[in-house]
Amino acid sequence: MQLQCSYCNKMFMINKEAALAGLYSIKTEGMQHYDASCAYCQRATRIASDRMLQNYPNWEEEYETMLKEAKVFEKKQAALEKELSERKTKPKKEKKKRTRKR
Ligand SMILES: [Zn+2]
Repeated sequence: MQLQCSYCNKMFMINKEAALAGLYSIKTEGMQHYDASCAYCQRATRIASDRMLQNYPNWEEEYETMLKEAKVFEKKQAALEKELSERKTKPKKEKKKRTRKR
C-alpha cells in the first residue's frame, strides 16, 4: 500500500504484513488510525482506519492466511533445526588467522 508522508511528503510503501497487523490492532484496540512510519524520515504518519479498510477489504481473511503461513514456516524451521541438531558431525570451520604485520 502506497502512502504519502505527511511530514516530508515523500511517497513510501508499507508492506502487507505491517498493514494487516495494523488493521488487527485497529480492530482489537479500537483505534481510529494506524501509525505507519515513514521510510525516509521515520516519523509516524497517521492513516485513517477507513483508508486501511478500503485497501484491504478482506483483511481478516488475509490476516488469517498470513498467520497460517507463518505457522507453516515455523514448523518448517523447527524441522530444519531438529535435523541440524541431529546431525552431530559438523564440519569444523577453520579459523582464519589474521596476520597483522606492522
Ligand atoms: Zn517522511
